[in-house]
Amino acid sequence: MRCCQLRLRCEYATISRVNELLAGYHRFRRTGWPQQRANFESLAQTGQSPKALMVACIDSRVDPAMIFDAPPGRLLTLRNVANLVPPYQPDAAYHGTSSALEFGVCVLEVPRIIVMGHGGCGGVRALLEGAPQSAPEFVGPWMQIAAAARDRAREQASAEDAQLFGEYEVVKISLANLLTFPWIAQRVADGRLQLDGAWFAIRTGQLKFLQPDGSFALAEPPLLAG
Ligand SMILES: [Zn+2]
Repeated sequence: MRCCQLRLRCEYATISRVNELLAGYHRFRRTGWPQQRANFESLAQTGQSPKALMVACIDSRVDPAMIFDAPPGRLLTLRNVANLVPPYQPDAAYHGTSSALEFGVCVLEVPRIIVMGHGGCGGVRALLEGAPQSAPEFVGPWMQIAAAARDRAREQASAEDAQLFGEYEVVKISLANLLTFPWIAQRVADGRLQLDGAWFAIRTGQLKFLQPDGSFALAEPPLLAG
């Protein structure tokens, strides 16, 4: 195949993808927008007051708003590779996750933070097996936040269970790191803020919640009530 033919095929594929997204936008304008219009207008006028801050993975299969059936304004969503929270480190580095936490907790005063892991997490796989060769710069160092999860998975889990074990451990590490932020620890101590851990199964659509004994179990606590 000649180069110009390849380029044409490539351009056609790009246009198809853009059209697919535009078609989705047009569907939203036809159906979603009329349904949500009053809510959007109210939110535009009064501002947002989300019921929870979700720390979730960037994985395209794990959409917190869909999983919690949450309308616009309900969830403040913070997504990064493997739903990780770094430890409190106020220095001159660019802290995207920490700045989102500060905004949600100190400005919006969210009453809950939920860290949600998920099955088949590529970030956890990179933690256990090494970052993909095509992503050598940032994924590996980022996942070092959860190095203890990798070590525990190797010590305590079989090879088949290491991925799931690691996904659970990453949620626990993020929850522990949340408490290193003084303005989070203070709010948890005085009851203004609640922290929860969860894990979503892509294959079954089921959500598990972290229990006081450290296990994850199917449960339906009223996390977003009120
Ligand atoms: Zn993931």
